Amino acid sequence: MATVAPTTDRGSAGVRAAVERLYRDELRAEAPQWERDAGVPRSVFERLGAIGAFEARWPGGALGQGDFDVAETVVRETALASVGACIALGTHLEAYFRALARCEYGRAVWDDALAGRRVGALSVTEATGGSTPTTCHTVADRSGDGWVLSGHKHYVSNMRAATDCVVFARTGDRTDLTSFTLFVVPLDAPHVRLTPHRMSAARASATAMLDMSGVQVGDERRVGRVGSGLMLLLELLRAERLGAACAGLAVAELCLETALAFADRRRIGDVPLRLHQAIAHRLANVASEIAAGRALLAESLEAARNRRITSAEAGQAKLVLNRVAWHAADEAMQVLAGRGFTEETGLSQIWRDIRIGRIGGGTDEVQLELIAQSLRPGELADHPVVVAAAESGGMA
Ligand SMILES: Cc1cc2nc3c(=O)[nH]c(=O)nc-3n(C[C@H](O)[C@H](O)[C@H](O)COP(=O)(O)OP(=O)(O)OC[C@H]3O[C@@H](n4cnc5c(N)ncnc54)[C@H](O)[C@@H]3O)c2cc1C
Repeated sequence: MATVAPTTDRGSAGVRAAVERLYRDELRAEAPQWERDAGVPRSVFERLGAIGAFEARWPGGALGQGDFDVAETVVRETALASVGACIALGTHLEAYFRALARCEYGRAVWDDALAGRRVGALSVTEATGGSTPTTCHTVADRSGDGWVLSGHKHYVSNMRAATDCVVFARTGDRTDLTSFTLFVVPLDAPHVRLTPHRMSAARASATAMLDMSGVQVGDERRVGRVGSGLMLLLELLRAERLGAACAGLAVAELCLETALAFADRRRIGDVPLRLHQAIAHRLANVASEIAAGRALLAESLEAARNRRITSAEAGQAKLVLNRVAWHAADEAMQVLAGRGFTEETGLSQIWRDIRIGRIGGGTDEVQLELIAQSLRPGELADHPVVVAAAESGGMA
């Protein structure tokens, strides 16, 4: 259990320093066990709660943007310990609090959620495809003062620690912007059944199927207005994707440092591996991609701090940083070669886990769709080459 003393400085910088200490001194060493146990225990949420991590993320509640610096630190430190844990923790840190802030039930359990005693998950994906949430078959029907939910969800993370799950459900007949609503469903309610997925990697995410067959919840667990679910989900996804971008950067940096450390010490003949051009250029490529990705992420975080970030901007950050992370992990694997492929160094775990960055929270293809839809003529629209291209494009 926690040995890091609760911080006395509950401000942003003090809490971030305490989070870094907790991970460095304790949680990094515990993370391999989370992978073996297929999930992050609730005690980890309680330890983060005790040092004020969730409270500092959401000072004064979660209706605004909150403190992004704290979110970035928690996500970064968790990703450096375990990518799977980062998926689990991210849903509590972002989706759960944003949902609680918009429902009556949330006011009753807010302090417990800040303390990590109540923990949240997010359930959207169904067999019809995570890329198209509007194909949702889970229904919530009115019943007396409350609701009855029925449906079958796939890939719900954080199922080892979670007490509640934010569920995306259909409350209208049509498929338009107003046909869906979010509910906070207690996971110990009658007629809730969880069946773990057998994941190939990132097992600490504790990802399971969620069956609901007539689960009754009170109206106080409805999130926002009836019919606001899709708009709220987009907000949750923007936050999740920005978090995934932060995690991608952390993992990419870890992989580059791992490869550098190995290539410095390993000698081929009399020459350190690092000085062989074929390896040096791999490292240089990854370092350049990280530098570009870091700049993009800084811009995205700045946008999120100052205004509402767009889905295309959050998607671009997630897409780029997770491609960079995947490439960095694969190049590190090439540099460490056999030693990387064994379980000895821990690199193989990262290499397997980070592949989820291009799938979870919306695939690369979904992000590209969002980015493509946002593309507009820019400030070079009157450049002669652009004008000529436009004119020739309009010719029959
Ligand atoms: C470890 C893990 C944890 C997860 N955690 C959660 C969670 O906590 N909550 C949750 O709700 N979900 C979760 N997911 C689900 C995840 O969000 C989905 O896997 C993801 O959104 C993709 O959905 P899908 O797997 O159903 O693939 P599909 O949507 O069926 O897509 C299959 C392929 O088709 C492509 N495709 C789809 N639409 C288009 C298009 N318009 N144009 C081009 N290509 C397209 C996709 O990019 C993909 O390559 C998790 C998944 C994993 C693996």
